[in-house]
Amino acid sequence: MPSNISGSYDYDVIIVGGGIAGMQASLDLADQGFKVAIMESDASIGGKMIRLDKVFPTLDCASCITTPKMAAVAHHRNISIITMCDLQSVEKSNGLFKTKFIQRPRYVNTHLCIGCRQCEYACPVLVPDEEQRGLSARKAIYIPFSNAIPQIALLDVESCTLCGKCSRVCPTHAVDYFQQPESLELKAKAVILATGYQLLEEFPKRAYGEAADNPNVINALHLERIIAPTGPYMRILRPGDGKEPEKLAFILCAGSRDETLGVPYCSRVCCMYSIKNALLIRHELPNIQISIFYIDLRAFGKNYEQFLRKAKEEGIRFVKAKPTIKVSTPGQGVILRYEDQEGTEGMAEEEFDLAVLSLAVIPAWSPEGRVAVAMDEYGFMAPDSPKAAPTLTEMEGVFIAGMASGPKDIVDTIIEAGAAAMEASDYIKKLDKDISLAA
Ligand SMILES: Cc1cc2nc3c(=O)[nH]c(=O)nc-3n(C[C@H](O)[C@H](O)[C@H](O)COP(=O)(O)OP(=O)(O)OC[C@H]3O[C@@H](n4cnc5c(N)ncnc54)[C@H](O)[C@@H]3O)c2cc1C
Repeated sequence: MPSNISGSYDYDVIIVGGGIAGMQASLDLADQGFKVAIMESDASIGGKMIRLDKVFPTLDCASCITTPKMAAVAHHRNISIITMCDLQSVEKSNGLFKTKFIQRPRYVNTHLCIGCRQCEYACPVLVPDEEQRGLSARKAIYIPFSNAIPQIALLDVESCTLCGKCSRVCPTHAVDYFQQPESLELKAKAVILATGYQLLEEFPKRAYGEAADNPNVINALHLERIIAPTGPYMRILRPGDGKEPEKLAFILCAGSRDETLGVPYCSRVCCMYSIKNALLIRHELPNIQISIFYIDLRAFGKNYEQFLRKAKEEGIRFVKAKPTIKVSTPGQGVILRYEDQEGTEGMAEEEFDLAVLSLAVIPAWSPEGRVAVAMDEYGFMAPDSPKAAPTLTEMEGVFIAGMASGPKDIVDTIIEAGAAAMEASDYIKKLDKDISLAA
């Protein structure tokens, strides 16, 4: 690549976020010869997709699609992966972007760790594993999950008792209790923001109060872990008491399309992933009764309508209602109260073993005060021209991709990531050409 830009730079493109959007954009750029860095806040790349079980509407295994992409990113000579770092700011000067990150300490030397897990086996401390949404335990020093990239251990200093066992067994002396947060300053010609989404975790408490404290009231990402073969129980059990559920309720629009919460928009993926999970559970537990409570069913993508029809044919019950939790006994089931708006049931009360909330999708990260890109009224990054150029921002040379700019499924995320990569490639080529003409 031509590199006659004024001043030196570290990478052609810095990609913030190593979810499916960031990984796809990095591969598209790196294959064209650009040097790319993925800056990821977590200890591993992969984003939400690597934590899903299967994906609609094909029911392909999410990990079987994501793991090869993660490996391709890790082995690409033009891609560097830098984990555990959070973007602080992006400024433009002399045609280059100066990006600042804070890298949190792993307390393990990334150059020395060989991922042998000896430290993990030796550690005597057990704490809830956030990778399994707290449904099983991990050690205080651990590799986040089996196919994490990089395969480097991480010490949770809050839970560590400083017993020294990990350090003593480490064959490469990689454990380093004295690491400190570091500031990273990297320069690049272009930046792609692919910071993704999170769920509106405060919704259950706000909507249902103490009833939401019941461990048998879970959200859809918990369920993805419970049904995954690499999940906490390796079979479908409810978290409250380990019982196999016989009656399960999916509650859609749990926060979405709710003006009072500031989330008036549709989260776009909940109808489909709930149908997906209902089908997967039905295949696993043929006698289970599954009800999906919805406001409207939105099956707008290719083969999505057929997927919905299949669920109806397989006996999944659909009820047009927005239930409240009437009774919730911790460790046991919930009694839902709802008004059936289409059927004949009218006002009804019904007990379920497990309730799964489809929480609203909200932005994971805000550019406010850090990067001069616009946001929409809900905090998602706003493209300069949403219809004509959905990956371009007001800041020329800064692009957006994936859920960072609003809810979308994996197909749309991947398409948008490819578009952002092409826009970035085009931008850099023009930049290099202008500079060489001016020289
Ligand atoms: C329960 C559930 C099930 C789903 N099932 C399906 C399905 O079956 N099929 C389908 O098509 N879609 C599904 N989806 C939607 C799918 O998860 C998204 O389309 C996809 O994950 C979006 O990818 P992304 O890369 O944009 O975001 P993410 O996966 O959120 O990745 C963003 C990455 O950016 C990182 N990051 C965030 N902020 C920073 C920062 N400041 N600095 C550095 N890094 C940062 C995050 O750690 C993360 O790794 C589902 C969603 C949910 C909630």
